[in-house]
Amino acid sequence: MEDSRYCDLHIHTIFSDGLYSPEEVVRKAKELGFSAIGIADHDAVAGIEEAMKIGEKLGIEIIPACEFSCVMEDKDIHILGYLLDYKNSTLKSFLKKVQDKRIERAEKIIGNLSKQGIKIELKRVLEIAKNGTVGRPHIAQALLEEGYVSNIEEAFMKFIGYHCPAYVPKMEISPNEALQLIKDFKGIPVLAHPISYDFEKIIFPLIKMGILGIEVYHPEHTEYHIHYFLEIAKKYNLLITGGSDCHGGRKGKLFLGEIKLPYSYLEDLKEKRRQLFLDI
Ligand code: AMP
Ligand code: ZN
Ligand code: FE
Ligand code: FE
Repeated sequence: MEDSRYCDLHIHTIFSDGLYSPEEVVRKAKELGFSAIGIADHDAVAGIEEAMKIGEKLGIEIIPACEFSCVMEDKDIHILGYLLDYKNSTLKSFLKKVQDKRIERAEKIIGNLSKQGIKIELKRVLEIAKNGTVGRPHIAQALLEEGYVSNIEEAFMKFIGYHCPAYVPKMEISPNEALQLIKDFKGIPVLAHPISYDFEKIIFPLIKMGILGIEVYHPEHTEYHIHYFLEIAKKYNLLITGGSDCHGGRKGKLFLGEIKLPYSYLEDLKEKRRQLFLDI
């Protein structure tokens, strides 16, 4: 019989810049009929345990993941690590360091804004971020609250985008480092939303470095992109993944339910992990 199960392997929670708690995400996914979901916060694994608990109760499988923010030739590249050992204390302390650096960076961005007469408080930004990875989306929200912009997009355009004077880069980790980390913690590295980059330029170096999968299905990919990325996956024997990249409304139209990835792709991911690490 045909397998009609589907999953969404890329979801953010309040542990990074999503608006839903892990519990809310799991409940919504269950309502939408998902069999499995991947919790993939930016530089954080702290939401996974809560999701697992509620997932067990509701009968929905939780796939542990982390979306690592990397920098390659000055540009942000996101690499997803799937099925990694999210309980590992070395991983947790590495992520703690990344998060502490992100707080220092937020402070610097706020300082730069202040030089332009734009006053927002670090305290408020940290409150907005709750206990999660602090990022520019939280600063954007504080700017919105203070009336400096009328939407989040405008905050990026005017104040905190890559080319704006207040911009400060994050702690840099290279794709190579991220790939090594993910491997160390028994995860499968996958290139997130390739449409966000000059993909024809970066995809081949990343394949050479050892990326094992590509996020083919994403709400921002057109039919053209999907076709192109599927061809690459086939040619270079890469795993295929997909997800909504749900931020719960904080970021455009990335919502749960936008992508329903056939479960067989998740099975391939798990099989790859079994082959590589012989322990699942
Ligand atoms: P950070 O990791 O702190 O540099 O923030 C990057 C995050 O900001 C991305 O992962 C997106 O979620 C969000 N972001 C980037 N550009 C925009 C934009 N133009 N509008 C809204 N959100 C954005
Ligand atoms: Zn995000
Ligand atoms: Fe991303
Ligand atoms: Fe994401």
